[in-house]
Amino acid sequence: MRYPVMLIDRDKVLNNVRVIADMCGSAGIDVWGVTKGLAGDSRLAVLYSEGGFKGVADSRLRNLRKIQESGLAAPRQLMRIAMPSELEDVSCVCDVSLQSEPETVRRLDEICASAGLTREVLLMIDVGDLREGFWPRELPHASEYFAGLRGGVRIVGVAANFACASGLLPSRENLERLVSYRDMLQDSLDCELPVVSAGGTCCLKVVEEGNAPRQVNQLRVCEGALLGMDTAFDREIPYLERGAVTIVAEVVECKHKPSVPSGEIGMQSFGERPVFIDRGVRKRALLGIGRQDVNVDRIEPLRDDVHIVTASSDHLIVDVTDADSLRHHEGGYRPGDTIAFRPLYPAMLAAATSEYVDKIFFARLTQSDD
Ligand SMILES: *Cc1c(COP(=O)(O)O)cnc(C)c1O
Repeated sequence: MRYPVMLIDRDKVLNNVRVIADMCGSAGIDVWGVTKGLAGDSRLAVLYSEGGFKGVADSRLRNLRKIQESGLAAPRQLMRIAMPSELEDVSCVCDVSLQSEPETVRRLDEICASAGLTREVLLMIDVGDLREGFWPRELPHASEYFAGLRGGVRIVGVAANFACASGLLPSRENLERLVSYRDMLQDSLDCELPVVSAGGTCCLKVVEEGNAPRQVNQLRVCEGALLGMDTAFDREIPYLERGAVTIVAEVVECKHKPSVPSGEIGMQSFGERPVFIDRGVRKRALLGIGRQDVNVDRIEPLRDDVHIVTASSDHLIVDVTDADSLRHHEGGYRPGDTIAFRPLYPAMLAAATSEYVDKIFFARLTQSDD
C-alpha cells in the first residue's frame, strides 16, 4: 500500500445509506446522495444507488461527468449554481440543476431547447442561510422571469440549503416557509412544482423528530452517510456508523526532542505563530502527510494517546510518547509504522481532492478489491 491513503469502508457507508434511505423513505422523502465529499468518486455513487438513494448530487460538474462516464444509471443533480460559461456542459451532464438566476435559467433553456433536450430545474430559495437563492420578495415576479421558456427547461420545484454559509439550522418553521414559497411560485407560474428539496445532513434531525412538513420530499445528504456526523448540530448521529472513512499516514522519523524550540520564534510556514507548552522531552513522530493533503485541525488520531503537535505543507508531527509505552514491539513507534486518523468533513474534502492521497474502497469480508 502507498501512503497517505484514505480508506473507505464500503459496508459502513452502505449501512449508513440504507438507514438514512429507510428513515427518510418512511417520511415520504427521497434522498439524493451527495458525492462531493469524495470528489465525485463513482464507487461512492454506486454505493449510494445500492443503498437506496434516488440520485446523486454534486457541486462540481467535473465530478458529475465522471459519474456519467462510469455508466451508472442514477440521475445526476448539479447543486452549485451553474456558471454561465458551463451551461453547455450542464445540459449534457445533469438531469437536474439548482438555479437562482432567471437569466441563467433562460440561457440553459435556450441551449437545451436547441439540442432537443429537456432538463429539470429546482429554484433555489434563500430561507436565511444567505448563500445562494432567490430572495422571497423576488418570487411574485417569477412569471415575468420565466415567461417564454421554450421547453428546454422544466421547473419542477424548489430547494434550500441550511448550515452552509451562515450556519442557519433547519426547523419546522423555516421548512414550512420553504413550502409556502413553493406554493407562491406555483401560483405565479401557474404550474405544479412537485419537488421540495432540502439539504444537507442537518435536516436529518428535523426528520428524526417528526418535524419535517409532509410536503418536503427530497433531502440531499453527504456528511451523515460518510462520517455519521452532523457538524451543524454538533453531534454524532446515534443511529449511524462513524469511522467509515479513515486516513492513514506513514511515519518517516521518530525522535525524542524538546517540546519548546530554542531561539527567536517567528511565523511558521503557514503564517501562524505557534504557541508551545513545555512538556519536557517528548517522542515525536514525523508523518508523510501535510497541509496540502488534509486540514490538520480537522483530523483526530484514532488512538487517544497520540496527539497532533503541528503540521507544515508536507509533514504532520504527532506526539507518541504516551502511545509508545503501550506498544508491544521493542522501542515503540519507528519509521514505516502507520498512524490512522478520523477526518472531519473539511479534512475529508481536502484529502479527497488531493492527488497525493490514494483512495481505497474495501469491504470487510473480501479484503480490498479495488
Ligand atoms: C454539500 C451540500 C449538501 C450536503 O451537505 P451535508 O451537510 O454534507 O450532507 C447539500 N446541498 C448542497 C447544496 C451542498 O452543497
